[in-house]
Amino acid sequence: MTEAWRPGDDDERSRRGARGSVKVRVPAKVNLRLAVGPLRPDGYHEISTVYHAIGLYDELTARRADTLTLTMDGEGTGELALDDSNLVLRAARALATHARVPAHARLHLRKAIPLAGGLAGGSADAAAALVACDELWGIGLSRDELAVLAADLGSDVPFLLHGGTAVGTGRGESVSPVLARPTTWHWVVAVADGGLSTPQVYAELDRLRAAGAAPPPVGPADELLTALRQRDPQVLAGALGNDLQPAALSLRPALTKVLDAGVAAGALAGLVSGSGPTCVFLTPDAGTAQAVAQALEAADVCRAVHLANGAVVGARLV
Ligand code: ATP
Repeated sequence: MTEAWRPGDDDERSRRGARGSVKVRVPAKVNLRLAVGPLRPDGYHEISTVYHAIGLYDELTARRADTLTLTMDGEGTGELALDDSNLVLRAARALATHARVPAHARLHLRKAIPLAGGLAGGSADAAAALVACDELWGIGLSRDELAVLAADLGSDVPFLLHGGTAVGTGRGESVSPVLARPTTWHWVVAVADGGLSTPQVYAELDRLRAAGAAPPPVGPADELLTALRQRDPQVLAGALGNDLQPAALSLRPALTKVLDAGVAAGALAGLVSGSGPTCVFLTPDAGTAQAVAQALEAADVCRAVHLANGAVVGARLV
């Protein structure tokens, strides 16, 4: 923990690098593999996942101010509350409390990650707010120190500080990077109309499992980790898996059409991202990704289509 803030400390903070305005870019995540274990006594499911950050970005600008405010544009504008329930403000306040500085900033969020899409946009924004306010206020916490605050804000927030490809365990907050030579994977992202609530998707999985109607769980990620090291998209495609997919499809049967359309257009595999309803497609190269994106647009099975490469770095100053 850093020392308490006192009037007059501004000079000290500017020596440490506090700035008038900073901008942070943060990616979305997909789960290359998501194994959901039993419900824990604390209400969370134990999960084992392989996170992968893809190049679809939200951007957070933070400016010096005398109060804490948040505005936004882009995806979810008018739907997403900009009050204290917003993860951006929660993250800013958590950092200010931790560092004992006033939570003063004018924040603006430019959102491209769809709301409640299974791409962890809210968690991404929380990670962006930690990085932006840490810089704006000249606090200078390390990534590992920020990760402690991040874990309290949400299961996916620590990963979005780091980015890349990483194994997540616990409820997802315990993250260790996958060591593989850097490789560019070409993804197509199909955004659905409307979101899916993550708790509802987990509840649907519990219901399917209790009824004996869920397919067998995806199991350990060994094969996927080998596929990442081999850097062969065909092999990786065969190792993708998501225990939440049957639950998302049960709640949103039309997603089957989206998955089928992407694969018919040349994707090596299609996968519901996290709790959905966004579907992502792995393609062998940039040209095929372009063709799959065009085919998905022409098939009129989703609201928007994006090309996004992975893996990319997590929340970073730009
Ligand atoms: P998950 O990480 O659970 O998979 P998701 O990607 O499906 O989430 P998000 O867009 O992260 O969905 O948002 C889930 C919920 O979090 C939203 O419905 C909203 O109520 C809340 N939320 C709070 N702050 C934000 C934010 N800045 N952006 C998006 N959602 C936010």
